[in-house]
Amino acid sequence: PADIFPGRANSKGLDLNDAATLNATLAAVEEVGRQTYQATALVSGQPVTGTPKSVTRPANRSESVGSVVEASADDVKRAIVAASNAATGWADTPVEIRAAALEKLADALEDNRLELIGLCVHEAGKTLADAVAEIREAVDFCRYYAINARQQFQPVALPGPTGEYNELRLSGRGVFACISPWNFPLAIFLGQVTAALVAGNAVLAKPAPQTPLIAWRAVQLAHAAGIPADVLHFLPGGPEVGAAITAASEVKGVAFTGSTGTARAIARTLLEDDSRPIVPLIAETGGLNAMIVDSTALPEQVVNDVVTSAFRSAGQRCSALRLLIVQEDVADTILHMLKGAMDALTLGDTADVRTDVGPVIDEASRDKLMTYRESMKAQWLHTVEAPQTGLFVPPTAIRLSGIEDLTQEWFGPILHVVTWKAGELEDVVARINARGYGLTMGLHSRVAETADRVKALAKVGNLYVNRSMIGAVVGSQPFGGEGLSGTGPKAGGPHYLLRFANERTVSVDT
Ligand code: GLU
Repeated sequence: PADIFPGRANSKGLDLNDAATLNATLAAVEEVGRQTYQATALVSGQPVTGTPKSVTRPANRSESVGSVVEASADDVKRAIVAASNAATGWADTPVEIRAAALEKLADALEDNRLELIGLCVHEAGKTLADAVAEIREAVDFCRYYAINARQQFQPVALPGPTGEYNELRLSGRGVFACISPWNFPLAIFLGQVTAALVAGNAVLAKPAPQTPLIAWRAVQLAHAAGIPADVLHFLPGGPEVGAAITAASEVKGVAFTGSTGTARAIARTLLEDDSRPIVPLIAETGGLNAMIVDSTALPEQVVNDVVTSAFRSAGQRCSALRLLIVQEDVADTILHMLKGAMDALTLGDTADVRTDVGPVIDEASRDKLMTYRESMKAQWLHTVEAPQTGLFVPPTAIRLSGIEDLTQEWFGPILHVVTWKAGELEDVVARINARGYGLTMGLHSRVAETADRVKALAKVGNLYVNRSMIGAVVGSQPFGGEGLSGTGPKAGGPHYLLRFANERTVSVDT
């Protein structure tokens, strides 16, 4: 089908199979590796002063990427005041001007694509392929929300009795806090920020403490593209910055991507002060994502999609496969092939184009995953060798005896496997649903009725049939979950912007 916004198209990205493109990309990645980025919080576009904190590569902690001066409590306060003062003017700025700034930013992201890829590789430990996809998704968010806003933010005349004029219009809510994760340090960072901006909000943008540099570059490009400096403030830092922002009564909405526990803590903070307006929380959190495989599935395709969904990006996507539920009759075949496919994965530094699986983001993550992996040693189905340098967690498959044995999200390259018997399909889906998470689910089956049954029963935001479960595409696979996985609305979909706006009805009788 045609796009719901006629003429809209996603960015083309880069073809790394083309030798010239690959060489230019590798050269840019090397060049970024030679740079020392010196980022700071930006309040009204002005750098703040403070002690720089160093940012090093997850693939090799002895190599620096740069440093960041995080926002102090005073910087946060100043940003909140400036954003509050600027919010009304920005909300009253014609949507066309706001949308045009997003489109200009999209062009700037494309113009600076190679540098941004380099930052993704060095700062976030992304593979080249993931880095290319990341920049592309950021560009797509900008253009999608621009087109969407242009259409959605026009006043709509509504019917009434003779002599009465009714109008419905959307307007920014005021100051919006955008709190984003390190696993999509550009795409989710900018997805939240651009949605809030184009809807007419002033924004306090807090990137994850692990990945401030690429976000800082993005904010510089956004200011250059015409987003007023008073309207977009950059506040890198840890949980204390997030807590200060969300506790501020001036903040009229929060977009958050991260853990379910943090989303809950933010929700509590937002409701704590009785004198404060009730504001929306847009939360996109974790999942216990399962893939069901039946005996009619194509084994080669299953194994390929399992490896992609569970181990690519080092399993560090909230969409990633955590629990493979394979029908008993084909389990031996599939697991045998899966072991072979795991052995074929190349682990290493992501500045190397051959790398399939890079490091995890930081020491805390590595230690948590490694401790868990070690505690499950008796149940390992398979694992592989990982490099000694860098924060690597070896991709590992672990057998569990039941769906309920997986009790929490392990945010890394760890796959759990259980089996099911013919006739248990509905029970399997019900048991997955009963966990309360609802982000992604996968199904591999060549029986149309099975797919229809799962479609009808699965309580997830994104169901993927006969394909991988990661890499939702803007405008094609609006992304986000339900239940413990988030509040919606879905990023990259036509309803996302509405939650960033107030709806106002005006009725005039003559
Ligand atoms: N949208 C990403 C995907 O489809 C996942 C986003 C996340 O990890 O938060 O893989």
